[in-house]
Amino acid sequence: MNMLLTRSAVSPVRRRFDAPPSLPTIDAVVAAERPDEPLHCLRPEVIAAAARGFVAAFPGSVLYAVKCNPEPRVLRALWAGGLRRFDCASPAEVALVRQMFPAASIHYMHPVKPRSAIRTAFADFGVRDFVIDSREELAKILSVTGDAAGGLGLFVRLAVPNAGAYDLTGKFGAPADVAAELLAAARPHAARLGVSFHVGSQCLRPQAYAEAMALAARVIAAGGVAVDVVDVGGGFPVSYPEITPPPLSAYMAAIADARDRLGLTDSELWAEPGRALAGAGTSVVVQVQHRRDDALYINDGVYGSLSDAGAPGFRFPARLIRPGSTLPAAPLQPFRLFGPTCDSADRMAGPFLLPADTIEGDWIEIGQLGAYGAALRTAFNGFDRARLVDVCDPPMLATPGHAAV
Ligand SMILES: *Cc1c(COP(=O)(O)O)cnc(C)c1O
Repeated sequence: MNMLLTRSAVSPVRRRFDAPPSLPTIDAVVAAERPDEPLHCLRPEVIAAAARGFVAAFPGSVLYAVKCNPEPRVLRALWAGGLRRFDCASPAEVALVRQMFPAASIHYMHPVKPRSAIRTAFADFGVRDFVIDSREELAKILSVTGDAAGGLGLFVRLAVPNAGAYDLTGKFGAPADVAAELLAAARPHAARLGVSFHVGSQCLRPQAYAEAMALAARVIAAGGVAVDVVDVGGGFPVSYPEITPPPLSAYMAAIADARDRLGLTDSELWAEPGRALAGAGTSVVVQVQHRRDDALYINDGVYGSLSDAGAPGFRFPARLIRPGSTLPAAPLQPFRLFGPTCDSADRMAGPFLLPADTIEGDWIEIGQLGAYGAALRTAFNGFDRARLVDVCDPPMLATPGHAAV
């Protein structure tokens, strides 16, 4: 298994991607390796197919939100699926994308940037598109870039009501009146002027995009200037246990319909999906170290790739892997999980449905972790070792409208 890599929390290994000609299944890797450290299983074909599907279905340009999962193999898979634009929010993300893809379009979509980061992105990495949600940020960008000889793309982030399982609305975004003023103020400096928003991550209501676009249309009218781009942000969902979102096509139809109805047809549409592209693309295989009643103590947890299963209370699909076993599986029962650190908060209520006879030494695959799973790992308590392998398995849960692999 020469494609197994050891990886620490957030430092991508700088190496070329050599896709093995045929990838193993997760069960084959577990049988061969019997891993006693968390094994991150990456499905490059699933990610590439998600990118292909989204790019084909969205009526505009698609930017990948790099923070969702910056693993270089994920970025390669997205590129292979036809993704060419990246929404970055830090100098490290900008540098990573530029290093991997010299021809990529990079857009700096964080509304509050240090001057040094603007300078680096602009001067060293050729970034021209920046988000603002205040007068001060506009002044900062103009002063650092010297107006970029009029070549800037300026995007006003608009505050919109939260419609997602994760609120991305309370921290950034200008209220409508300020956003309108910002559009007017930015227009003379912008080769490309845009409005952007984020309806919240894992948004299960396509109509939320149309509502946010209606607010954007009012802001554009109040600003009294032409706007080149309406960027509908991220928020597109994937399936989790007992959560099957509306099909992707319903989101695309709601957005295209709102564009036509609101008279936004002179503006290009952009989207910044993260979760919808990466969510189904990775799993972690953990090993059970101890069982106490309905609690399983495992080797990954909320300080590792399972933070969303902790306090946020997200549920993830789970399945037992017991190599070589020919016995019929026991009936499923709900389990709680505990992670490896000494912190009592390192617990995951689930419930995770697993065979009633699950015991120490068994492996469990926990799926749909590609979005904000591995990206949030820490080195707390020394439990930062994990291995990474590319596999050919389909997603653990299908999402309506996403390509089957
Ligand atoms: C996090 C983020 C995204 C991606 O959101 P998803 O819900 O994962 O699609 C897109 N745009 C911005 C500005 C973000 O902060």
